[in-house]
Amino acid sequence: MDGILNRSDISKAKRIVIKIGTTSLTYDNGHVNLNRIGHLTRVICDLMNRGKEVVLVTSGAIGIGVDKLKLPGRPSTLSGKQAVAAVGQLMLMNIYERFFSEFSQTVAQVLLTKNVTDGEESRQNAINTFNELLSMGVVPIVNENDTVAVDEIKYGDNDYLSFIVAQLTKADLLVILSDIDGYYDKNPQEYDDAILLHTITDLSEKIEKNAGGSGTALGTGGMLTKVHASRLAAASGIWAVIANGEKPEIVYDILDGKEIGTVFVPEKK
Ligand code: ADP
Repeated sequence: MDGILNRSDISKAKRIVIKIGTTSLTYDNGHVNLNRIGHLTRVICDLMNRGKEVVLVTSGAIGIGVDKLKLPGRPSTLSGKQAVAAVGQLMLMNIYERFFSEFSQTVAQVLLTKNVTDGEESRQNAINTFNELLSMGVVPIVNENDTVAVDEIKYGDNDYLSFIVAQLTKADLLVILSDIDGYYDKNPQEYDDAILLHTITDLSEKIEKNAGGSGTALGTGGMLTKVHASRLAAASGIWAVIANGEKPEIVYDILDGKEIGTVFVPEKK
């Protein structure tokens, strides 16, 4: 059964949320990977031309802020992180804006906090705004509002945020791009014999048991948060795929139903 569970249905996805992590957006030395961002934006513009609607959930504000300010690492204090995020978010959006404008694609910045999407009225406002932007052919670029979010009102990680965005926008497909090919039965950075899990149909919490933390200083959630977000998405009827963002063109293969990455098969669709 592995890998043949109607992957071709994914090709019908109209509304797609793509999430990209800090490790995919930056080099090991902390500088921005412009080549990667260039490929990602080109793929998104092309998907829009195909008639898809795309929402991009992007990490990277703090990582890019650290680099821009030439700091030795992430600040340890909350105010330090928030200040760095304020610098980095602007630079991140500036980079996206420049790449997207090459293809005359309009983008919008949407900064969310958990209390906004938890509150009934503010959640509905966020939904309306997403729908309005998508109907205008704009690509919303979403991040957590790190500059004001404190622990009590934090999503925790952008993988979870990408699930929330997929839910708010009633997306058909969530693609989580990472620095690894997908979800393995154990951490492949530690075990040579780790096997890639192609298809996940069990959406219970126990499927998270083989997922570990991040292998890098910049990555935050690791595989655990990706599997968590993907299973929640699939449980809400949304196809979810964890795949390697090294070549963002992988999104085409996912839409072609190729056996690539780890697919979480939705329950209700
Ligand atoms: P990103 O910046 O893309 O969000 P992370 O570094 O947070 O990336 O998460 C991906 C990392 O999770 C992998 O590079 C790997 O080191 C780690 N990991 C832990 N357990 C697993 C697993 N079972 N399968 C795949 N990767 C795993």
